[in-house]
Amino acid sequence: MKPSLPVTRRDLLKGLGATGALAALGPSSAAAADSAPPAAPPRPTPPRPRNARSAAAARRALFDKVQATTFIDTHEHLIEETDRLQGTAHPRVPCDDFALLFSHYLDSDLATAGMPAADLKRFLSPGIEPAEKWRLLEPWWPAVKHTGYAQAVRIALEQLYGVVDLSAATVRQAQEGYERLRRPGFYERVLRGVANLESCQVNCLTGEPFKESGLPTLLMQDLSIVGMFAGPNFKTYAEPAGINVQSLADWHRVITWWFDRYGRYAVAAKSQHAYSRDIDYARVPPEQAEPVFRRVLARERISAEDRRLLEDHLFWQAVDEAGKAGLPVKLHTGYYAGHNSMPLHRLARNPGSATDLCRLAPQVTFVFMHICYPYYEDIIAAAKQHANACVDLCWAWIINPIASKDFLKKFLVTAPANKLLTFGGDYIPVEPVVGHAALARRGIALALAELVEEGWLSLNEALGLVDPIMHENARRLFKLPEKEAALKQAPWATAAARG
Ligand SMILES: [Zn+2]
Repeated sequence: MKPSLPVTRRDLLKGLGATGALAALGPSSAAAADSAPPAAPPRPTPPRPRNARSAAAARRALFDKVQATTFIDTHEHLIEETDRLQGTAHPRVPCDDFALLFSHYLDSDLATAGMPAADLKRFLSPGIEPAEKWRLLEPWWPAVKHTGYAQAVRIALEQLYGVVDLSAATVRQAQEGYERLRRPGFYERVLRGVANLESCQVNCLTGEPFKESGLPTLLMQDLSIVGMFAGPNFKTYAEPAGINVQSLADWHRVITWWFDRYGRYAVAAKSQHAYSRDIDYARVPPEQAEPVFRRVLARERISAEDRRLLEDHLFWQAVDEAGKAGLPVKLHTGYYAGHNSMPLHRLARNPGSATDLCRLAPQVTFVFMHICYPYYEDIIAAAKQHANACVDLCWAWIINPIASKDFLKKFLVTAPANKLLTFGGDYIPVEPVVGHAALARRGIALALAELVEEGWLSLNEALGLVDPIMHENARRLFKLPEKEAALKQAPWATAAARG
């Protein structure tokens, strides 16, 4: 989509004339004009005037720079390419056709628009003809096609398959494009070739806390810590470690085993536990946690209060290990995926709890994901206040593209720019990452252009922020050169990956 030129503050002032402009600048300026003080009052310096052509040229320069700049994608749930090529044999591939692009997250907008559950299920089922899928989608398409979730899919359909407008006439073309693209090597083509990403950071959702990826330097991995403290998940974590867990100390050893084994390959530790409770983890000493842990081990029922106490203790056990391994800790904050389930009042507490975490572990770097949408103003305050708080726009551009642009403008004039990460597609299927990256580039270029037009930044300052926020911050924060070198030598790396 091409950017359109909005009315700038300068245009507004010109249109209003001198008196109107003074009023538009705020009540204090208007009051000053009425009371006519004896000496000329100090006048605010307006942004340096630009003519329409220079404003358009600045915009062009920013859009070109952002377009040409690679992203480091700091959050995905992509399954392995080899699994994708197995089609619906994989549990995260409900159908192996163009509708897969709708399965994560656009299905939720369709559901909340009112599409009957049976129709949505059929739309996402295998073995249904493309024309039939369009008939199911068509009644709901006008209601959802403008949301960020849908815009990302529409851009992907256009950039990957040449389908500009999905309809009865083009749905077959979408399906043919899907089949033509989905062949060995397509992750590289989609992610680096089309989306212009350097690498992705994947949080594997299919059971393993750390995925030994067949594309180790393209699909870099987080170490999932959520099962270390929620549950905890004995089977998933203790069995690979070969530790027979009889005590809390044994479980601590299990946690350490995962960091010893994968800490040097993982880019970060990751938890999405905010889907179950607020991130208000207190530091609970082991003596208090031990009796609860023993009861969990004996499969006794425990109270919600005791469960919380154990989670609190183990959260810090995992986070302190991450700190020792030099891994930033990525925490889900804000909006929930899915539909008809989110308790907004719980999310509202995330930013306050985030600042508590920062104070409780000044040695650990926290990455607060998804700009804590819709509480993004609050999470900017956290990043401004705490040296160890970073904020990631991952997923945010498709939840609300305009709020994300607003967040970016505000963050850059409020908090240090080296604590900001600007893109993560957050997808299971690879194709819509292309659309999400395009929306993010558009939002970043618009935000920077508006900051220049409004006089907050010079064009050179805005241009100078592009590399840091699109990839340099991520490269430094997650120590990517070091990780890449380690991954090339990893036991599971193929000869091709070692390259
Ligand atoms: Zn995610």
